[in-house]
Amino acid sequence: MRKVSVFGSTGSVGVNTINLIARRPDDFHVVALTGGHNISLLAQQARALRAEIAVTANPDLLDDLRELLAGSGIEAAAGRGALLEAAARPADWIMLAVVGFAGLELSLIAAQQGSTLALANKESLVCGGALLQQTCTRHGTRLLPVDSEHSAIYQCIGTQDKEVERIILTASGGPFLNSTHAEMERATPEQAVAHPNWDMGQRISIDSASMFNKAMEMIETFVLFDVTPSQIEVIVHPQSIIHSMVGFTDGAIMAHLGPPDMRAPIGFALNWPDRHDLPLERLDFGTLGDLTFRHPDKTRFPAIALAEQTIEMGGLAGAVFNAAKEQALDLFLARKIGFLDMARIVETVLNSPQPTADAPVLETIIAVDAEARTRAIAAAG
Ligand code: NAD
Ligand code: MG
Repeated sequence: MRKVSVFGSTGSVGVNTINLIARRPDDFHVVALTGGHNISLLAQQARALRAEIAVTANPDLLDDLRELLAGSGIEAAAGRGALLEAAARPADWIMLAVVGFAGLELSLIAAQQGSTLALANKESLVCGGALLQQTCTRHGTRLLPVDSEHSAIYQCIGTQDKEVERIILTASGGPFLNSTHAEMERATPEQAVAHPNWDMGQRISIDSASMFNKAMEMIETFVLFDVTPSQIEVIVHPQSIIHSMVGFTDGAIMAHLGPPDMRAPIGFALNWPDRHDLPLERLDFGTLGDLTFRHPDKTRFPAIALAEQTIEMGGLAGAVFNAAKEQALDLFLARKIGFLDMARIVETVLNSPQPTADAPVLETIIAVDAEARTRAIAAAG
C-alpha cells in the first residue's frame, strides 16, 4: 500500500484527487488531508478514506473539525503550524493542491521526504522554482507536474529531453477570447470566473480569463524543462483537446490529447511510472469537430509579455510577478479595480526596482512577496 497525503483536498484539484484515490481503497493508505473553511467536506473525505489526520488551515475551526471527526479515531488539527507538520509526515506520494503562495513552504517541506511530489501548486515553481528543484534533488524527491499542460509536456518529452527544440503551450483563451478591449475593461468577477472548458477553482479561473494563468505556466515551463525563453511558445487552442506539444530537433512534434478533465494529469502523477485505467471520457475523433489554433492577442492579454519579461529578469522576479498578480486579483475580486487594471498593476510592480538575491532562501522569497504586495496596493492607488 502506498502512503499518500493530499494538501488542499477540498479544492477543485483536491476533490478530483480524492475521487481517484477513493476508487482504489486497497492500493492507498491516506496519511494527511488538508483544507480551509470547508471542514464538513474535509471530515467527510477523511472518514471515507480513513485518513490518519485532517488539518484545516483555519485555527478557529479546530473544535468544529474535532466534533465532525468524533469517534472516528482520526486526528484533527488546525492552523499553519499544523499544516507544516502534516507536510513533514512521511508519505510515498504527496499532492500539493493548495492555491497561492501559501503552497510554497508546504512544497519545500514535502520535497524533503525523498518521495514523489505531485505538484498542482504552480505558485511554488513561479516563486521558488530554483529552490524547490534544489530541494527535490538534494532529497531524491521526484517532482511530477500536475498542471495539465506540464503533465502533457512531461509525457511528450519522455526520455528525450536533450533533443527538445520548442515547447508549445496551448491556451484555451478563456471566456474573453473574442471580447473587445472595452468589454474586458468592464468585465466583472462573475464573467471572468466562467471558464468555457475547465471546471476549476475561482482564482485560477479568473487567471485564465486574463491569461495570467498561461503567463504563470510559461514561467513554470521555464523552471521545469530546462529550455530558453525563446523555446517557449503559446498558442490559443479554444477546444482544449491538445494539452500542449513538444517539438524536437528533427522537426517532429509530439502532442498530448484528451478531454479537458484534471483527473487525467492527476491520475498520471498518481500512477506514475505505471498507467492505470482512469474514469475519463474517451475522445471520439469522428464527432470531435475542428481543432483550431491562433496566436494570442498580446494587446488584450498583456500577461503573456509580462511573463516573457519576468523570465528574462530572472532572480526573484517570479515571486514579484506572482505576488503582484495575487494582490491585484484580490483587489479585482473586491471590485476595487477593473479587470485590465490587474495587468497594469503587475507591470508597474515588475518595473519598480527589483530585489537582488543570488541564493534564494524561503525567508528572502517571503520578504520579496510581501514587498511586492505592498507595491501592488500602492500601484492600485
Ligand atoms: P481551489 O481554490 O479550488 O482549492 C484550493 C485548496 O487549497 C482548498 O482545499 C483550500 O481549502 C486550500 N487552501 C486555500 N488557501 C489555503 C491556505 N492559505 N493554506 C492552506 N490551504 C489553503 O484551487 P484549485 O483550483 O484546486 O487549484 C489548486 C492549485 O492547483 C492552484 O495552484 C492552481 O493554480 C493549480 N491548478 C489547478 C487546476 C484546476 O483545474 N483547478 C489546474 C491546474 C493547476
Ligand atoms: Mg494549466
